[in-house]
Amino acid sequence: MEAVATEIERAFGFSTETGTALEDLSFALDQNRHQYHSTLILEQLAARMPDHCIRILAITQVDLFIPILTHVYGEAQLGGSASIVSTYRLNESGSAMNISPRFIERIVKEAIHELGHTFNLRHCSEHTCIMHYCRNEEDVDRKSDELCRYCKVMVEDEIKRLE
Ligand SMILES: [Zn+2]
Ligand SMILES: [Zn+2]
Repeated sequence: MEAVATEIERAFGFSTETGTALEDLSFALDQNRHQYHSTLILEQLAARMPDHCIRILAITQVDLFIPILTHVYGEAQLGGSASIVSTYRLNESGSAMNISPRFIERIVKEAIHELGHTFNLRHCSEHTCIMHYCRNEEDVDRKSDELCRYCKVMVEDEIKRLE
């Protein structure tokens, strides 16, 4: 969480606060899939965002899905306030005890990616851009932890509109 907070401050220039957003995700559990429907969680996150915040990002260990896909690394409200990232499929060792630098790097990348969507960024065709859509962990490892020049300008414009 610390690494994500630091990198968010670097990427977007906003200060961050960390804490527990939702204690219980059972409302989003799909009994047949044994996965959690991320869109439902986003609604709850948006409703619980503190007044002095402009965005909320959740990090969860549970496996997330949206109905049209087998799983997602995360989801965000495009141009909205809430975003979420799951660590479930990003851990190559599969063990919660083994927190490798690469695992942290993947979480950071996907966190910035999802937050980017809340600033109205869509998927970018530039392979190294953090807004590039990733199908698997290799795609995540291949992209950089930076927005490309085009996406950076888009975010800066969006942030100016907030001020
Ligand atoms: Zn995306
Ligand atoms: Zn881009």
